Amino acid sequence: MSNSEIIELTSKHVMNTYNRFPVAIVRGDGRRVWDADGRVYLDFTSGLAVCNLGHSHPNVVKALKDQADKLIHISNLYHIGPQSILASLLTGNSFADKVFFCNSGAEANEAAIKLARKYFSVKGEERFQIITMEKSFHGRTLGALAATGQKKFQAGFEPLLEKFTYVPFDDLDALGKAVNAKTAAIMVEPIQGEGGVNVPSKGYLKGLKAAARKVGALVIFDEIQVGFGRTGKLFAYEHEGVTPDIMTLAKGLAGGVAIGAMLATDEVAAAFTPGSHASTFGGNPLATSAGIAALKTILEEGVLDNCRRSGHYLVERLEGLKKEFPFIKEVRGKGLIIGMELEAPGPEIVKESLSKGLLINCVGEKILRFIPALTVTKEEIDEMIGILSGVFAGLTKK
Ligand SMILES: *Cc1c(COP(=O)(O)O)cnc(C)c1O
Repeated sequence: MSNSEIIELTSKHVMNTYNRFPVAIVRGDGRRVWDADGRVYLDFTSGLAVCNLGHSHPNVVKALKDQADKLIHISNLYHIGPQSILASLLTGNSFADKVFFCNSGAEANEAAIKLARKYFSVKGEERFQIITMEKSFHGRTLGALAATGQKKFQAGFEPLLEKFTYVPFDDLDALGKAVNAKTAAIMVEPIQGEGGVNVPSKGYLKGLKAAARKVGALVIFDEIQVGFGRTGKLFAYEHEGVTPDIMTLAKGLAGGVAIGAMLATDEVAAAFTPGSHASTFGGNPLATSAGIAALKTILEEGVLDNCRRSGHYLVERLEGLKKEFPFIKEVRGKGLIIGMELEAPGPEIVKESLSKGLLINCVGEKILRFIPALTVTKEEIDEMIGILSGVFAGLTKK
């Protein structure tokens, strides 16, 4: 099928919930993808921070093939080998003692919200309030949507799940005023992704945890986007040395395969007992086998080192562009989640880049988000900068 054939079929039969670019991607290898007409693109979007090891990483492909030959699915009525191994690897490399598996980020956050409620219900405490941040993003299902502190995603879907309170991100004073004896949890992305790559001040997460503890509330970190190596450490909270009670993961967790996970300490996880929560596909053999391969690759093949090195280099090159183009306001981020705030139309730049063979992403109207694979090379960053500066130069000529 060609690009135009796929586009026609999509328009006719797929619900119109995405503003798609007029190409269909049919193949990927490392940091490159090909469209249905055979055009190649350098990919700095990674399926939106999912393909952290690049497209079709051989270790992940092998794990999937081997597992598919043996067993694709079995229910959680039985024990699942790869699920138990991935859980042990996740707890062995994080603050957590226990894992619940699901299939997406929103589902992981739903599980986190349910666990926080159940934890206090078991303790016999009436606590329902969950504090989240303005400009946050936690997913599109109704609970996760209520947690998301952005009106544009909620409009038309009210009434939302109750008892969510939003406070400005990176504002400990506002948080201090919002917490009270009815607060069950404070939920936060250690770095906001969708909200514009917002990095909080040093000490913010520590202060946030102190604010929660002061009233006996739990802390939930949503590391769906910034976890799994994206910031140069396996989990973003490691940069600040502050651990949550509950953490959610999805996106990069299985090298491109759909998966979600909610991790917690033993003390909190004990509130979930048989029947409390479930997912038919959660922790299935295929997804968790891919997850094991992805996690081992990150830990054993120098991926985090490359992420830090490439991240520094990318920032350096983007700062270089800032000297040349006055419409660039700020470059910010950590590891390989980098935002570039502009006084220029982001969507137009993304469209122009696509026509020149580069996939980049824009959040809001004015912030370019760079989320290449953590395996991206210096040469690929140079190539990206070359294309982008050409697009920027074209913009100033108009
Ligand atoms: C993407 C994302 C989600 C939602 O994940 P889905 O898999 O799309 O449901 C939740 N939180 C954060 C921080 C995200 O980046």
